[in-house]
Amino acid sequence: MDIMSAKLMLNSLCYNMTEPMTNLTATMNSQSSRAASRVAAQLETAQALCESRGSRLTPIRRRVLEILLEQGRSVKAYELLELIRDDQAAAAPPTVYRALEFLVEEGLVHRLDAINAWAACHDAGGQPHDLLVVCTSCGSVAELSDPDLTRSLAEKVAQAGFRLSGHETELRGLCEACKGCLP
Ligand SMILES: [Zn+2]
Ligand SMILES: [Zn+2]
Repeated sequence: MDIMSAKLMLNSLCYNMTEPMTNLTATMNSQSSRAASRVAAQLETAQALCESRGSRLTPIRRRVLEILLEQGRSVKAYELLELIRDDQAAAAPPTVYRALEFLVEEGLVHRLDAINAWAACHDAGGQPHDLLVVCTSCGSVAELSDPDLTRSLAEKVAQAGFRLSGHETELRGLCEACKGCLP
């Protein structure tokens, strides 16, 4: 096989992976119901976290979080607005932005400056994580933790006369799936 047809094959393979699933088999159904129960469990955790802190997960805040959890990757503001308008036509951008701000403050959502997007935290209430690796191609996010690395990073930054203002470090990269789809 020459390089060109290998590339074409790879491309169609990658295309198939991102194609919407039209033939829902029993396996996929059980996968999607597992995903739904995972989202429900994470929403419950979020609700409990907010209650324990005396803050309120209002319906709009809850819906924004739910959408981000369902997407399972980071989402840009305009995408989020489109998704939310599917069921709440009247949702105004400032309301959605305020909901996002709240969710970031509560540690339920990560704001990703590298790609100007938001992603639900998939370990809210769990161990703190300080490194976020963002796929610049598909927006998927890996949440990592390395306190030693973060400490030495903070020391280096201090040596340069700065102090870190955020507790999360963002790294850009390409995820497993996107790495294989490169031309
Ligand atoms: Zn997180
Ligand atoms: Zn990717």
